Amino acid sequence: METILFLSPAEAGSPLSKNALEALATTKQLADALGTTFSVGLWGDDPKVAADGIASCGATKILAVTGAEFAQPRYATDAAAAEALARTDGATIVIGPSGSRWNRILAGVAHRLGGRADSHVTGLSAVEGSPVIARWYYRQRMESLQTRTQRPWLLAVESGIAPAWQGTPGAATVEAVACTPPAARSKVAGIEAQAADLQTIRPDANLLFVTGAGWTKKQPDGQVKVEQAQKLILGFLGLSRASLGSTKSLVDLHGEGQATLTFLTHMNQVGQTGSTPRHAKGLATCCHGEEPHTVGWRFIGERRAISLDANCGWARGKADVLYVADAFAVVEKVNELLAK
Ligand SMILES: Cc1cc2nc3c(=O)[nH]c(=O)nc-3n(C[C@H](O)[C@H](O)[C@H](O)COP(=O)(O)OP(=O)(O)OC[C@H]3O[C@@H](n4cnc5c(N)ncnc54)[C@H](O)[C@@H]3O)c2cc1C
Repeated sequence: METILFLSPAEAGSPLSKNALEALATTKQLADALGTTFSVGLWGDDPKVAADGIASCGATKILAVTGAEFAQPRYATDAAAAEALARTDGATIVIGPSGSRWNRILAGVAHRLGGRADSHVTGLSAVEGSPVIARWYYRQRMESLQTRTQRPWLLAVESGIAPAWQGTPGAATVEAVACTPPAARSKVAGIEAQAADLQTIRPDANLLFVTGAGWTKKQPDGQVKVEQAQKLILGFLGLSRASLGSTKSLVDLHGEGQATLTFLTHMNQVGQTGSTPRHAKGLATCCHGEEPHTVGWRFIGERRAISLDANCGWARGKADVLYVADAFAVVEKVNELLAK
């Protein structure tokens, strides 16, 4: 019979991240579908608060590798902790949240355990009593369902595919697992992060706001209004706290030396050669392309678009609601209303 282990790093004094709680919910769903149990493994300098936060999740046990050496994100110590937890538990399926820490060690830990690994898992189910994973291919155009015979099977579960697990916190009983920290060559000296307002990519935002090249094109009055576009878009992001996506054409303008929106980088690009984010809602503005509409929006729940082009086949075909309107006028009005 399959047994399942949910693994995650835990930050001292903090509950598990939303990403980890989503993967926990997925783990629980799979255990129910297979009619089996699951346990939890955590590591960090003090995973107690994280363990207490999920005390009522239904895990048969909560294991933890604890120590200051395991606090920092680092291959050697993260891999050692995950390996020790997986060996102690002996589960046939090991599930963790996609993120820099679990993704980095996934293949190495699978190799040490003599198992196999799959990343970018977007669904877990049971078919005739066996676990089946879902993954997307060809830039999220085709979904594949896969099984494996090798065990243990280590999986990295994508964020946004299930609601985060919610439940009453309690006093968890945590079983300590011994792990001698390996010699570590690297150490985290500090974190340099952009100021919150400059960080336009917000995976947790409810809304994805997609900008297209139309913002920088000559407008019906014959004028190019890049500065006004910049002001309106930043104003909207500040007021709505939406995440900013962009078409390829718009982010490419920068490299071609044309006037463009200075806060956009290729990190904002959605689509076939960009990202396929998961947000509850999406609003595309001044955007005509196939890739942003069909691929970039693949996992957006409710989609709306503002375009001057009433015949834009992609906006008409892929948006739930299309406003045939001037995005400059619409966003200006929306900002005015949001500011109130
Ligand atoms: C191999 C390959 C991979 C690609 N990968 C990607 C990808 O990952 N992501 C991606 O985005 N593209 C990708 N592309 C490019 C893609 O095919 C399109 O060319 C591109 O997305 C078009 O960008 P756009 O919609 O911003 O610009 P445009 O096609 O120039 O459309 C601008 C639109 O803005 C409208 N507009 C102008 N002013 C206003 C206004 N005031 N109010 C409202 N609407 C207005 C216009 O009517 C027009 O419809 C790829 C192409 C290839 C060949």
